[in-house]
Amino acid sequence: MFSNPTLPIPDYPAILATIYEEVQPLLSQGKVASYIPQLAKVEREQFGMALYCLDGQSFSIGAAQTRFSAQSVTKLFALALAYTREGDALWQRVGKEPSGNPFNSLVQLEYERGIPRNPFINAGALVITDILASRYVDSEIALLQFLRNLAGESTLDFDMAVAVSERNTAHRNYAIAHLIKDFGNLHNSVKLVIDSYCRQCSISMNCMELAKAASFLAKHGVIPWSGVQVLDRSSAKRINAVMLTCGTYDAAGEFAYRVGLPAKSGVGGGIVAVVPGELSVAVWSPGLDVTGNSLAGTYALERFTTLTSRSIF
Ligand code: GLU
Repeated sequence: MFSNPTLPIPDYPAILATIYEEVQPLLSQGKVASYIPQLAKVEREQFGMALYCLDGQSFSIGAAQTRFSAQSVTKLFALALAYTREGDALWQRVGKEPSGNPFNSLVQLEYERGIPRNPFINAGALVITDILASRYVDSEIALLQFLRNLAGESTLDFDMAVAVSERNTAHRNYAIAHLIKDFGNLHNSVKLVIDSYCRQCSISMNCMELAKAASFLAKHGVIPWSGVQVLDRSSAKRINAVMLTCGTYDAAGEFAYRVGLPAKSGVGGGIVAVVPGELSVAVWSPGLDVTGNSLAGTYALERFTTLTSRSIF
């Protein structure tokens, strides 16, 4: 068993059951994302949570098998895939600092001359999509295949209703992409990048699939269940570091304070987090807090790290 030798192995089923009880009053408090019309249709009062331990054990509770729109959680996997192809050259086109601005802001991009602050805000993710589009004929298919391989789940797919719904209302993302293009940091057409990005964001996954897909980041770049090395140890460390500082919108400081784990969230209500050397964990609840993170999901992860004494600190 991969575990911290100084700590007792937690009773995960009991802890998940406790968390499940505790989150119930929170499920009606968040707000489902509505700026993508298709996402507004999702029933708010749902909660799922899944753990994938590096020894292959897994635990879950609630709606952990219900697929949801991964949205910005896919930015984590797009970064990992781009990093496997570009290595550190990638950081010439996108930064690795928290933005201190909303995830879809244009302001900083103007005065920082088209170099997005990090790969997890929309501007940065559009540059990552552009990098993938220069490497693959169909970059979103390459990403989907990468995710299928990481999760060991060949049925993962796009939700085209969500993709079309987002593309039809993607005015701000078009504006961001045009601005980046004007600064010369987008090599493919704006249309191609936006189409690919909207499909990428529409990928549906459940908590168990998400936890399993991220488990290579807990095992220093190696997929635990297949032994395939996706990234070297140092690269996995760097991606976890960027997750910690930039992965949960403009609340990454608050999230690190409360949860203490590298994590990536999305407006579909999913959050995936990594306990290096031990496990990966995914939560989903569609109601978001004011910062765009799942309200019940963030609380669940805070309780998880408290009840298990697991965090990176
Ligand atoms: N597709 C969404 C957008 O670009 C992703 C947002 C998110 O999950 O943060 O607005």
